[in-house]
Amino acid sequence: MTKQRVAVLGSTGSIGVNTLDVLARHPDRFEVYALTAASRVDEMLAQCARFAPRYATMADPVACRMLADRIKAEGLSTQVLSGDEALCQIAAHEEVDVVMAAIVGAAGLAPCLAAARAGKRLLLANKEAIVVGGALFMDAVREGGALLLPIDSEHSAIFQCLPEDRATWSQRVDHILLTSSGGPFRERDPATFSAVTPEQAVAHPNFAMGRKISVDSATMMNKALEVIEAKWLFDLAPEQVRVLVHPQQIVHSMVVCRDNSVLAQLGTPDMRVPIAYGLSFPERIESGAAALDFARLAAGLSFQAPDHARYPGLALAWETLRAPAGSTAVLNAANEVAVAAFLDRRIRFDQIHAVNFSVLDGITPGLSATAPPAALQDLLALDAQARAVAEQCVRRLSLQAA
Ligand code: NAD
Ligand code: MG
Repeated sequence: MTKQRVAVLGSTGSIGVNTLDVLARHPDRFEVYALTAASRVDEMLAQCARFAPRYATMADPVACRMLADRIKAEGLSTQVLSGDEALCQIAAHEEVDVVMAAIVGAAGLAPCLAAARAGKRLLLANKEAIVVGGALFMDAVREGGALLLPIDSEHSAIFQCLPEDRATWSQRVDHILLTSSGGPFRERDPATFSAVTPEQAVAHPNFAMGRKISVDSATMMNKALEVIEAKWLFDLAPEQVRVLVHPQQIVHSMVVCRDNSVLAQLGTPDMRVPIAYGLSFPERIESGAAALDFARLAAGLSFQAPDHARYPGLALAWETLRAPAGSTAVLNAANEVAVAAFLDRRIRFDQIHAVNFSVLDGITPGLSATAPPAALQDLLALDAQARAVAEQCVRRLSLQAA
């Protein structure tokens, strides 16, 4: 078998490290061809020493130079690429077969589009890219002949419940149920949300994840982004995507068919399962995840409707999907700024929602829902505009607090 050459974008993050763990289990099937990260040079150097990728790059120019120096000093064979274009060059490189998109935030959109247009097997963890890219993203996948496979555990679950022939999906599916852990504050009194610290918010009950997605899980903005992601991945109407709180995170999501038969995918909560499935689809390979022991699920499995008063941002998913195209990009940008401001202790936890609502109120994208999808430049301009308005809002809120 010829080895699949894999580029891991965001290799030093939680998904990136889990991806390298799965790849290391299958050296006969996969070759780590390129690695990219933002600024953590020590981690990247260690990964280059271990996996000997052909290429590596860092988004931060200082970190990138430092990496190049240290790779040279250690006599490693990896070539360090620099400059704004390096990420997209790697994502579209003719020798790359598989791209793992595991960058966090809208920063991952351009390389995702490059990989899609180059017809790669594109493993999508970077949900913000599809939330911002929307129709443009899906068109790039279609036109490039890429194979887009979901890595988000809920979307991988839905994908695993559906037949391989996409043409039959719309006829079969009535709606889908995305499950959510409810996050660390599922039972905390919402009156105390103003006192939540960044440390409390990033301590997720079941997974060790990056800081941004951890805060998103606590606000349930993560689920809002996932509703939007599901709409695009599975070509659903907004009302066909529903959310269910399921604290044990054993049922990773469900498909409710036209005949009311329900299909579910279960397993221990471990991101290596969806990663391994994305890498091996339609085959199955060892992932490293523990088997699910039904005899030990003594506490049982519980499900409940989400409490919208506890998670006021969740409804914004359906609202922005029904609003003019580009509204989901505005929501994503506002949320990225708000989460960063909360982690920097500039605004309170409950004010993340205030920023998101205020930015959506302030910007109505001029992109028409019926016109052809906006170009990348239009979306990036909208993203920048929303970030600027969100920053003003953050400044206002932090001045009020001072
Ligand atoms: P993380 O913060 O742990 O890692 C992010 C990675 O992206 C790092 O390697 C970082 O260096 C890189 N990066 C960050 N900003 C960048 C930029 N501007 N340019 C280039 N590279 C940049 O995040 P994570 O938890 O691994 O999540 C990655 C993506 O996967 C997110 O979109 C997240 O929503 C999604 N996801 C994560 C999980 C999980 O369990 N961690 C589950 C489902 C989906
Ligand atoms: Mg998820």
